[in-house]
Amino acid sequence: MEWDSPIDSGVVPNDGSSFDVIVVGGGPGGASAAAFMAMEGARVLLLEKAVWPRDKTCGDAVGGKSLKHVQQLGIKGVIEETPHFRVDGIIFGAPNGKEVCISLPEEEVESREAGYSLPRKQFDTLLFRNANEKVLEAGGAVIQDFTVKEVHIENDAVTGVSGVYQKQEYHFKAPLTIGAGGYTCPVAKAVTKHHGEPMIDKDHYCGAYREYWTGVEGCGDWKGAIEIHFIDGVIPGYFWIFPVGNGIVNVGIGMVISEMNKQKVKLRALQEWVIKEDKKFSKRFKNAKMVEKSGKGWQLPFGSPRKKAPSFQPRRAAMAGAICVGDAASLVDPFTGEGIGNALLSAKLASEIFDHQKHSEGFPSELAVEFQNKLWEELSAELTNSYKLQRLVKKKWLMNFFIGKAVKKEELQRALTDMIASKEAQGQFHSKWWMVKTLLF
Ligand SMILES: Cc1cc2nc3c(=O)[nH]c(=O)nc-3n(C[C@H](O)[C@H](O)[C@H](O)COP(=O)(O)OP(=O)(O)OC[C@H]3O[C@@H](n4cnc5c(N)ncnc54)[C@H](O)[C@@H]3O)c2cc1C
Repeated sequence: MEWDSPIDSGVVPNDGSSFDVIVVGGGPGGASAAAFMAMEGARVLLLEKAVWPRDKTCGDAVGGKSLKHVQQLGIKGVIEETPHFRVDGIIFGAPNGKEVCISLPEEEVESREAGYSLPRKQFDTLLFRNANEKVLEAGGAVIQDFTVKEVHIENDAVTGVSGVYQKQEYHFKAPLTIGAGGYTCPVAKAVTKHHGEPMIDKDHYCGAYREYWTGVEGCGDWKGAIEIHFIDGVIPGYFWIFPVGNGIVNVGIGMVISEMNKQKVKLRALQEWVIKEDKKFSKRFKNAKMVEKSGKGWQLPFGSPRKKAPSFQPRRAAMAGAICVGDAASLVDPFTGEGIGNALLSAKLASEIFDHQKHSEGFPSELAVEFQNKLWEELSAELTNSYKLQRLVKKKWLMNFFIGKAVKKEELQRALTDMIASKEAQGQFHSKWWMVKTLLF
């Protein structure tokens, strides 16, 4: 499957047309929701404001969790046929400069799926191309260059959207609208506004900035470790170095927005300082070159612990007639910053709860609550752990101590190796007994 050429989405449907589902946004959440629903036989309308292939500001790491869903969509092999960097470990760097490299043993790289990294332009295009094909095959429609401007709500239920394509306004209707428009998703905005709740909580939002570089010393070309560095001056937050193949490296920095504001930090300037002034990194970037115009910033809505029904704050993610997935549902891992896996997972859950035949008259509010309960049942353990870890790394001395121990202690290295492949293993870090025993003895 090609990834770098335009995608033909066929005929634009007539203004006023009705569908089983409208999907707003064609990133990983929207493309997979559209594909999963089309695979169930639903007539889907997929609306995307960009024209493919399009870039998305990201660290470009696609973790093992995403691969399971990509497999269900039938395109894991296809993606693996395109150039990608195979991740076989993670390097953690402490504020005092110490590093530990946690690698998966060679024979486990495939079986335990540490994942890979590849430019989002490539990954997202492959997902969108797959969704485009499946939606059209099932009798639906896809429009690129379509910006959703308004979400219609009648009698406390979302009934459809309107927006603009080539300067002309269109209105579409469906019993279910999926909000997959990322952190500025118009459906998420409409759902929160309708309930008088805030869309953004700066304690649970992260600012992040990425650049592409070539010639960074110490990075593999097609296989190796990705790097996460907790640097003095960047905590709470981290500096990452993620190779994406062919000698190109995604380099970035991220921090919780309320902390950025408190410390009056500008991420681009902070990254420049790390690359030019930090003793360790200035050496590694001495002969490196930034890919022109690759510097971009974006935001990540975190999947911090939820309040109970009905608000599910920090983000209500569904109501009668609407379900939000991915960043629109605020599901980014608060420790690692990964959001692709949860975008795919929430899209799959949405496709399981909506039955286009049974719900042809409307998607009821009880099921909206059920969706959110299921989502949180699925994700609460790992996201709550990640939230706690995010708060732990605020403590510089603790990171120095922990990484210093990991350099020497095999048991800790084994636990961290498990963590690369399995989210559940993160739970160990919150067992106080395990922590005391492993760190002290
Ligand atoms: C700097 C940075 C680094 C990151 N690193 C990683 C990482 O290494 N690994 C990882 O797993 N995650 C990472 N993330 C998070 C990840 O990028 C997101 O969680 C993921 O993209 C969410 O997918 P999504 O489909 O929900 O939203 P998006 O990928 O944001 O897709 C939303 C789509 O909706 C479209 N859209 C928006 N508004 C409208 C509208 N009004 N009408 C029509 N279409 C619209 C957009 O054009 C876009 O295509 C990172 C994020 C940032 C900012």
